[in-house]
Amino acid sequence: MKTAFAAVATVALFAFARAAPAVPDKLVVLTFDDSSASHHANARPVLKRYGFGATFFITEGFTFSTNKRDYMTWQQIAELHRDGFEIGNHTRDHLGITEKTVSRLAEQLEVIARHCRENGIPAPVSFAWPGNRFHVTALPVLQQAGIRFARRGGEPEVPYAQGGGVAYEPDGDHPLLIPTTGDARPDWTLDHLKRAVARGGKGRIIVLQFHGVPDGEHPWVNTPRERFEEYMAWLHQEHYTVIALRDVARYVDEKHPPADPLAIMERRKKSAAGATESSSTKR
Ligand SMILES: [Zn+2]
Repeated sequence: MKTAFAAVATVALFAFARAAPAVPDKLVVLTFDDSSASHHANARPVLKRYGFGATFFITEGFTFSTNKRDYMTWQQIAELHRDGFEIGNHTRDHLGITEKTVSRLAEQLEVIARHCRENGIPAPVSFAWPGNRFHVTALPVLQQAGIRFARRGGEPEVPYAQGGGVAYEPDGDHPLLIPTTGDARPDWTLDHLKRAVARGGKGRIIVLQFHGVPDGEHPWVNTPRERFEEYMAWLHQEHYTVIALRDVARYVDEKHPPADPLAIMERRKKSAAGATESSSTKR
């Protein structure tokens, strides 16, 4: 009996010690939005070449149902799942979440989850806020739908136009409001990617947001195929570990999210304003 008890205690201790391992310095979460056909045709072979993980956020919005030149089929989405990539939820209609639309969110999530199950894909546990718009009233709806992690944009800390963002702090950010660290834009070069990636380290995780590679349907977030290949080759060369959003689970204490999910954003905005002020008064 004593031995059994000791074994149980050891297992419990071990489990506790393993609950939140330190975040490796070179950790990147790779995310793709909007079901672009280029995700299957162009991103997939590159990611497989380097053994990178990624999350593909699926919506049936835009011209998904009729335009199969620009959007994936469910067969292609299922193939990404079978390859080991994560399939995430991005709502049926690419619904921008506001206080007014939040009542429609549960059904929007369920349609995508159902189509996943019908195609042999588990119901998503990750979500990307459509158009990067978020509202705290949606958090319980996401939890109810089985969503554990949700990615937002770089706002409010960094204006959308800059395509920048902040690194994800697993012990400070709410798991349903994970910030984007870098949001790839048409005019990005490898230097922009390097700048985004430089925001990681010291316990922070880099979260990259891509749309089509290329994206003829959403030109304002297009990434040329050759550029994308250049970015991935650089991450590989620099020995970054590249994972799907669901894989952050091991670094997150999901049972104890911050009581005020917006506090960390306010804190970052204040410290950024303070930094600007002191640098401008310094001369
Ligand atoms: Zn989107």
